[in-house]
Amino acid sequence: MARKPTLSPSKITTYLACPVKYRWTYVDARGKWYMKAKSYYSFGSTLHRVLERFYNEEDGGVTTTEEALASYEESWIDAGYRSAEEMAEAFGDGREILERHVEEAIKIPRIAKTILVERQLRHDLGPFVLLGRLDRVDEYPDGTLEVVDYKSGREVVTEDDVATDIAMNCYQVLLRAKYPDRQVRARIVALRTGSSAASALSDSEAEELLRDLAKLGTEILSTEYAELTPTAKPLCPRCDFLPLCKQNEDFAAEFLAKETA
Ligand code: SF4
Repeated sequence: MARKPTLSPSKITTYLACPVKYRWTYVDARGKWYMKAKSYYSFGSTLHRVLERFYNEEDGGVTTTEEALASYEESWIDAGYRSAEEMAEAFGDGREILERHVEEAIKIPRIAKTILVERQLRHDLGPFVLLGRLDRVDEYPDGTLEVVDYKSGREVVTEDDVATDIAMNCYQVLLRAKYPDRQVRARIVALRTGSSAASALSDSEAEELLRDLAKLGTEILSTEYAELTPTAKPLCPRCDFLPLCKQNEDFAAEFLAKETA
């Protein structure tokens, strides 16, 4: 039997930002020749790897600041930086971020227990499977589960940021499906400052989200991507696929007109 298609928060946000970008990223193989490594992905992935080890009780190899910094050096990903100076600056920032995060985490007694780290969850929504990779899930003494997501670029996070974040809402429905008898909430932690905020979907909001996801997912999976034509939008100048879209003459003219307006 053919495997069901899958959709993740990244795929959904890409589609909502620009269906043509979804085409080049996930559907049409030509897109892969235009994708560039991004320093912010490399930086975020490095920090995630270290924190994964720090919070994973089964690992046991990263429990102190020194071990976290050693793991940071081993895990460093150098793709996407424009110069050695830019990379050295980012490397220094990452050290400071980790040092502060780990020292605080060791100092403050934890009331929650981490039960999942870097875990992929799946939930069958009929025509497709919703997938999500959760950075961390903590269990509180009252049984509440909190999905924690690290952001390495942000300095401030508000409750509204969490409540309106597609990925955080998808993670909550995935966690609710796996643990139907638990209260679930989501928290974003801005690693640069330690700022964090949490928000929880109500039962009715979670049900509505599932209905919306089923509808949107069906649309994403049934779109005829080869027939889409690109239209110029604010994100085009920073998009890897701009050279591909510019092969469409109408788009190239529209893009040029907007750029020179
Ligand atoms: S260049 Fe613009 S239209 Fe083309 S994929 Fe990127 S965002 Fe979409």
